[in-house]
Amino acid sequence: MQGIVSKSMGLWYQVETADGQMHNCRLKGKFKLQDKKISNPVAVGDRVELIEDKGDSSAMIIADILPRDNYIIRVSPKKKGHSHIIASNLDQAIVVATVGTPRTSLGFIDRFLVTAEAFRIPAVILCNKIDLLSADELESLKAKMTEYEALGYRVLYISALEEKDVLSLKSELANKTSLLTGHSGVGKSTIINQLIPDAEQKTSEISDFANKGVHTTTFAERFKLNTDSYIIDTPGIKELGLAEIEKDELSHYFPELRELLGQCKFSNCTHTHEPGCAIEEAYQEGKISQSRYDSYLSMLIGDDNRR
Ligand code: GDP
Ligand code: ZN
Repeated sequence: MQGIVSKSMGLWYQVETADGQMHNCRLKGKFKLQDKKISNPVAVGDRVELIEDKGDSSAMIIADILPRDNYIIRVSPKKKGHSHIIASNLDQAIVVATVGTPRTSLGFIDRFLVTAEAFRIPAVILCNKIDLLSADELESLKAKMTEYEALGYRVLYISALEEKDVLSLKSELANKTSLLTGHSGVGKSTIINQLIPDAEQKTSEISDFANKGVHTTTFAERFKLNTDSYIIDTPGIKELGLAEIEKDELSHYFPELRELLGQCKFSNCTHTHEPGCAIEEAYQEGKISQSRYDSYLSMLIGDDNRR
């Protein structure tokens, strides 16, 4: 029987099968890690093969993982030099952003977009709490975001407190598995609770089970919106996995830089100071924005942790 992992709780996993049933599962005893640098063998979103647990009729065993279409990782908080898969098999990744409550910087949005590009996952910017903005503030937010739309990213504006906005968001999520990320306080849980009124309840049921002496740290959880539409929430994840990206690849993940690659005089151009750099020229001409170029530079130097 096959299923998809909804939640990982240390040694235990919640797996949903095609009939909509949730199963408590463990890993098969001699389960092999496919990659020794990855600290979690099974991630939320993984398609897995389940078999019965002969010694325990209330649980099942994860015997195998089917190949992943894609996944997003971050540096493991526990094991040095290891990475942790946050979620797999994603159709899109959504960053929830707010103007001042809390403030989401353009640098943070750019790092999210670069991560999504690197993992080849379509990215969406969801501006929440627009009810807190004056007409002028909303206009200036939209003006700023036009730049991202011009780069090909979808930008949405909602108030999670407005039913019509939540309904329109629902249609953006239809028939997809969407990862939801963003700073703490931007409204991720509010959005999920508005979309799925029983989500909160579901969370507490699962943690009751997990409280039976197993450690309960979770980094992601998959919620069912309806058949074929899922949201993966990422509580406790401050930021996606930029650390995995090589510096000489970075420019590939900025669409407006990518299209100029190959036009620089030197093939190993870092686009910072070299003569005959097509990207610096485009920046000087205003074709690449200040904030995007700044983001590129700070990611390149690696001082972008707290902008
Ligand atoms: P999370 O940390 O991203 O899960 O954020 P929460 O969902 O806990 O939201 C943080 C706070 O923002 C809560 O007090 C919410 O009620 C509030 N909030 C969320 N969405 C909106 C919104 O669209 N408008 C307003 N005014 N408040 C919101
Ligand atoms: Zn260059």
